[in-house]
Amino acid sequence: MMSQIETIVTEVKKAQTTARNQVERALAKAEQITEYHALLSLTAERALQRADDIDLAIARGESVGKLAGVPFVVKDNYLAFGAPTTAASKMLENFDAPLQATVVEKLEAEGAICIGKSNLDAFAHGGSTENSYFGVTHNAIDESRVAGGSSGGSAVVTALDVVPFALGTDTGGSIRQPASFNGVYGIKPTYGTASRYGVVAMASSTDTMGCFAKSAEDVALVMSIMAGRDERDMTTLPDFFDSTVSAQPGRRIGVIKEMLDDGVDRDVVSVTRQYIDRLVAAGHSVTEVSMSIIKYALAMYYVIVPAEISSNLARYDGVRYGHRAENAKTLAELYGRSRSEGFVTENKRRIMVGSYVLSSGFFDAYYLQAQKARTLLIQAYNELFDQYDFLLTPTAPTPAFAIGENANDPVKMYLADAMTVPPSLAGLPAVNVPAGMSSNGLPIGVQIIGPAQSDAVILSLAGQLDQVDGGTR
Ligand code: GLN
Repeated sequence: MMSQIETIVTEVKKAQTTARNQVERALAKAEQITEYHALLSLTAERALQRADDIDLAIARGESVGKLAGVPFVVKDNYLAFGAPTTAASKMLENFDAPLQATVVEKLEAEGAICIGKSNLDAFAHGGSTENSYFGVTHNAIDESRVAGGSSGGSAVVTALDVVPFALGTDTGGSIRQPASFNGVYGIKPTYGTASRYGVVAMASSTDTMGCFAKSAEDVALVMSIMAGRDERDMTTLPDFFDSTVSAQPGRRIGVIKEMLDDGVDRDVVSVTRQYIDRLVAAGHSVTEVSMSIIKYALAMYYVIVPAEISSNLARYDGVRYGHRAENAKTLAELYGRSRSEGFVTENKRRIMVGSYVLSSGFFDAYYLQAQKARTLLIQAYNELFDQYDFLLTPTAPTPAFAIGENANDPVKMYLADAMTVPPSLAGLPAVNVPAGMSSNGLPIGVQIIGPAQSDAVILSLAGQLDQVDGGTR
């Protein structure tokens, strides 16, 4: 059976449909779901022009790319033409990108067409898309609940079939957790898989560029195009992403038992156990393993990531670009007021924590200590991967929570990241796989984690399982 993306590309190339048709359909669908507040802008004019160019090339018998005529959405922290790049902040409310992100260029070179930009927590700081300066995004399955975050908008447009794929960024869970909350696939690739160039930086040592789609196969196809070395991002790896690899039978899978303990929602535990049964039925061997250091990962993350944020966000001073406060009398006042007005509370909280842990008096006690612990975490993963091919945990401790439920309690909000943060600190690939539903009908996902550069194999494993039993949806 052909995947959603393959079907579109095949039909566009055979002129059974047109790229214009696909774009018009996606734009119309986007207009029908405005109450979810998943999109911050549409890039309709540019998208339709690009669609016509592709249709013309096909009519002339010219070759078109692997994603010819496929509409997609980018999270609004990717620099892209056709609408401002806001990072869902007042700081960048009117920022028109002077260039496009490398991965957007790569997708466009294969004929994909960006139709709009999705909502996020401002500067990607958050796990619910409630921190957007422009308002909250609603969950695709239950509008009274959060979309997850920070890439909430991209998850929702994928779940509601506006587009067959959407881009997100994942620093500590921002693709996997909203994928889990909305019942779609989402990948945080191996650190360095796809270029970060032209994407608003959050925490440079864990920022990754990934995507959402309705099948593992489509995620793999899109990632194989995004992947590869970029001279403008020196952390990128040479292209290793082979979307045609398939997972061997009889894999050894370790389930991290600390991630199924008492604090985890009962439905999440039972859906994870059912997924384990499906893995066993498919002939894989599944063993419970312990990884005691994992309980400190959240503490490491919320020291290291704010430190990097405070440094990356220093560039927004109201001078070169971004919001500038009016009538400031001194330079210090200009900096202070521009930043105070341009950032949301959560941005400021992280800048303050980050500056604190990097300050000379506390650097050794917090930042250095967290980096040492991070090395131990990486070693613990390495030891497990000597014995297991993959590791499994739920993606999040609960299904989507209610809008407002955690909004005023940052620590409660951070706890929602407990399962997604550990692979981020270790740079490992991890995929959210829709695995089932809670008793009240909310999607629940499991997270499959693999050794570095096993991204395509993880996706294959998940895809095979969906084909065996037809998946859960
Ligand atoms: N929720 C996590 C945080 O707030 C992850 C964010 C992200 O991956 N961008 O840091």
